[in-house]
Parts: sequence; C-alpha cells; structure tokens
Amino acid sequence: MKSLYGVIGSPIAHSMSPLIHNDAFLQKGVDAYYHAFHVDPEELETAVAGMRALGVNGFNVTIPHKEAIIPLLDRVEDAALQIGAVNTVVNRNGELIGYNTDGRGFVEALKEVVKLKDKHVLIIGAGGAARAIFYTLALEEGVQIDICNRTVSKAEDLIKEFSLERIARSITVDQAAREIQRYDVVVQTTSVGMHPKINDIPLPLKSIKHHAVFSDIIYNPIETKLLQEAKSIGAITQNGIHMFAYQAALAFEIWTGKFPDTVRMKKLVEEHLGGKTC
Ligand code: NAP
Repeated sequence: MKSLYGVIGSPIAHSMSPLIHNDAFLQKGVDAYYHAFHVDPEELETAVAGMRALGVNGFNVTIPHKEAIIPLLDRVEDAALQIGAVNTVVNRNGELIGYNTDGRGFVEALKEVVKLKDKHVLIIGAGGAARAIFYTLALEEGVQIDICNRTVSKAEDLIKEFSLERIARSITVDQAAREIQRYDVVVQTTSVGMHPKINDIPLPLKSIKHHAVFSDIIYNPIETKLLQEAKSIGAITQNGIHMFAYQAALAFEIWTGKFPDTVRMKKLVEEHLGGKTC
C-alpha cells in the first residue's frame, strides 16, 4: 500500500515541500505520496490525532505549529527538545516521534561552502530559525558566535538558555555593522528583505572580511538585498534554498532511510521560484 506523508501548517498553500518530496519518492523508488494539509492552531490536536488514527507514516510541521506540537507527540529527540521546536514527525509502529532538521539542514548546507572549524560567525536574528541554527552551529569545533538582534534581550536570553556564554555573545545591530570585517561567516535569519519588502537590509555593509561567507535563509527573493550587496564586495553567498533542501532531505532520510539528491531538490525549488540559486 502507498505510504502517506505530508506537511501541516497555516498558511500552507504555497509550500514547496510536496514538490520536492514527491519527486524524491519517484527518484528513490519509494511508493509514497506527500500532501500539504492546512491546519489552524485550534485544530492542531485533532489533526495530530487524525494523523495517528489514519496511520500517516510521517509529516513535516511548519509555522505556527513547531512548538505547540511537542506535547502532542509520544517522544521527541533531544536536539528538538533543546531547540524547543519540531519540524519532522515519524510514525514508528504507532508511536509519533519528533525531530528538528532545521538546524542540521542549515549547517550541512553551510558546510558545502565553508569549513566551520574555528570560524567567527555572526548570526543576525534571534527568532525560531536562529534558535535551531545557533544550537547546531555551536556544536561545531572552535566556533565563536556573535548574535545581533533588533530586540537585544532575545539574543541574550538565547545564549543564557543554552549556557553558551563561553563561545557566544550578544551584540547590537549597530555594533555588528561596525565590526562586520571580523566575521568569517554571516548568517542572516530575520525576515528582513523577504518578499514583498525586497529592498530592506538588516544592516548596512561597507567592507567585509576577505573570503567571508554570507548565508541568508530567506529564499523568496532568491537573492536578498543583503546577498546582492555582500556578493558585490566579494563575499561567497548562499541563499535559503540550500537550507530548505537539506532540512527536507534529512526529514526524507528519517522517514525512508534513503538520502535524496539535494542538488535536484534545490533545482526544483529554484525553477519553481523562477530564478537561479546562489
Ligand atoms: P521569527 O521566529 O518570527 O523571527 C523573526 C526574526 O526576524 C526575529 O529575530 C525578529 O527580531 C526579526 N525581525 C522581524 N522583523 C524585523 C524588522 N523589521 N527589523 C529587524 N528585525 C526583524 O521567524 P523565523 O521562523 O525565525 O523565520 C525567519 C525567516 O527565516 C523567515 O524569512 C523565514 O521564511 C525564514 N526561514 C527559512 C527557512 C529555510 O529553510 N530556508 C526555514 C525557516 C525559516 P525581533 O526578535 O526583534 O522581533
């Protein structure tokens, strides 16, 4: 019998997950189908019970359910518990187990363009995505991480909560802009620059470190203003399609035991968005 997978969220109509997962099922010879389900917050509990009752094999979880789903699951892996968010659920013989592949997806993608050992990293933003990325980046050997956020207290709280004061500090956006030349890697995790406000930039850029890598997790537009400016002054840039593809690939691996072709996944997303991956 065909296996069933999906994604729950609100809004969900524009999700690109069905596109890449259904293609990966075909490519990997897995007899399965992936569907996007619109689930409003007040229906989350019922929806999860429905997934359980129907024997759905696994599903992704997106905004606004990543935190709220935790108490509805039977088990949650430690990293997802620490991060406080689940984006992937697998049904193993009736037991619903939660994972977070956002942080690992981001770091795996980033490692395609930079070796992280002993690097000085700036994270811009301290929201949900930054949380997963900070937690996972901090596991890399020798990294030093500065976090700047519009609301400084949120970055401070994040560092305290993970007890990472030894390798991380919170700074203001102004300070980050002044000291941008210090960073080997700059990770942009805010929604600043996202469609439709594509001319917004989270901090001004003058000069950057030689060979610096700028990664923006936004993928609509494909190249944010920050990435355009960083590239024009010599940065290696990476857009959010890479993280999106890797978090999906890791979820696919949890469900099927097979790792899909991430290059193909990125190309599909890029074609769907009508541009070129950077
Ligand atoms: P979130 O939890 O709501 O966090 C939003 C972050 O953006 C916070 O740091 C917030 O700062 C900052 N921010 C929002 N508006 C701002 C403004 N006008 N000026 C300065 N800072 C502002 O959202 P999220 O879930 O982390 O998502 C953030 C972005 O990541 C979105 O664009 C989302 O599409 C993208 N994303 C991409 C992927 C991927 O796979 N590529 C995965 C997840 C998310 P304050 O704390 O001061 O409010």
